[in-house]
Amino acid sequence: MTITVRFAPSPTGYIHIGNTRTALSNWLYAQKNDGKFILRYDDTDVERSKEEYAHAIAVDLDWLGIKPDCVEYQSQRFHIYAKAVERLKQAGLLYACYETADELERRRKLRLARRLPPIYGREALKLTDADKSEFEAKGRKPHWRFLLPNFENDPFVTSRTEVHWDDLIRGPQTVDLASMSDPVLVREDGTYLYTLPSVTDDIDMGVTHIIRGDDHVTNTGAQIAIFRALGAEPPVFGHHNLLTTVSGEGLSKRSGALSIGSLREAGYEPMSVASLAVLIGTSEAVAAVPNMAALVEQFDLTGISKSAAKFDPAELDTLNRTLLHELSFGEAQARLEALDISGEQAEPFWLAIRGNLERFNDAAHWWQIINGELPEAPLLSDEDKAFAHDAFKLLPDAPWNRQTWKDWTERVKMETGRKGKSLFMPLRIALTGQTHGPELADLLVLIGPERTKGRQP
Ligand code: GLU
Repeated sequence: MTITVRFAPSPTGYIHIGNTRTALSNWLYAQKNDGKFILRYDDTDVERSKEEYAHAIAVDLDWLGIKPDCVEYQSQRFHIYAKAVERLKQAGLLYACYETADELERRRKLRLARRLPPIYGREALKLTDADKSEFEAKGRKPHWRFLLPNFENDPFVTSRTEVHWDDLIRGPQTVDLASMSDPVLVREDGTYLYTLPSVTDDIDMGVTHIIRGDDHVTNTGAQIAIFRALGAEPPVFGHHNLLTTVSGEGLSKRSGALSIGSLREAGYEPMSVASLAVLIGTSEAVAAVPNMAALVEQFDLTGISKSAAKFDPAELDTLNRTLLHELSFGEAQARLEALDISGEQAEPFWLAIRGNLERFNDAAHWWQIINGELPEAPLLSDEDKAFAHDAFKLLPDAPWNRQTWKDWTERVKMETGRKGKSLFMPLRIALTGQTHGPELADLLVLIGPERTKGRQP
């Protein structure tokens, strides 16, 4: 049996780091088990679903390194859901309800006032054909509810009905089907809510493992009942904890904050985003994992904790730095070329500057400092300027190597009596226009005798 998983986003917004946790959990699970990964757009809500978002999700997943084995759109599969509806109707498991939202709300309040659980009382089951015709004559259309199997003979006398599953992440789970309302599967206008298309597709597409956020745990109880009503064994479920912002709020697809697109545009490495999305809120320490193959190795669903995990974007900066500092020239080369950084200098340049990068593209800034005009003019006090002017006269003869900086500064120290920061900083500023940066021993060689002399203050 091929392990088959799916990531099922609704294309109603951009995916964020929390959705990425779901996507990656499925992807890594598939990779680890030689399985199949389906990207399935839950776009039954045709009003709110947009092709633009579906496209953006595909781009984001690709950037993260997720390559779906197949892509499905629920909006193209309505005929399949219609068959499932027919099957449930035939079995007497889908019944027509005519209540308006206001009527339902009134009933809910009444039940609460009577200290009854605010679940749907199945009043529509009592409707006669004549009642229904009357509603229809008034122009009312029914919505359709799934009759949960939580009673013996009389649907108005429910009894505790436990559904169990052994969750891949949370361990043994129990949901009581008598504690919930019969779920609405089809709306008045004939459109489908998420539940039925999801279960129908999971059956039809041979999904063996459903890995998703723990906001779906209760749904799972009802969905297991629907799987069975449609004649299928439910798949294995795994519900991971959700991510929140640092202040504990849920992440929203609509807010656009922390969207994968915005993190990409901010220049983060996909592996820093992936490492954090997968390792945060688990028993593993959050660390920069260099590539997807290594993340597959490290991935372990059972290590995911049960409580929500806070996502702190500052952690991304740390991971990003670490990844860049450890990126070999071979791995960086093509990307450097895209920044017009090539030739013999490219490798020593990369090795010298990678330890100072926050973002990969900062490399262009250092290339410019080393090879071109200084983007920022050196800012030196008159005294430091005079000192640096004299120091430049003591520069050793070419050819230069890594030792040159030491030879030069020792000479300068002897001649001027300056040492430490008061010696290095004016030289750094004169050479680079910056107060921070890579080792001067490396920079001096990269800048080379000719350009260095041109920078004498
Ligand atoms: N579209 C649903 C969601 O984004 C999918 C849930 C599921 O994986 O079944 O929450």
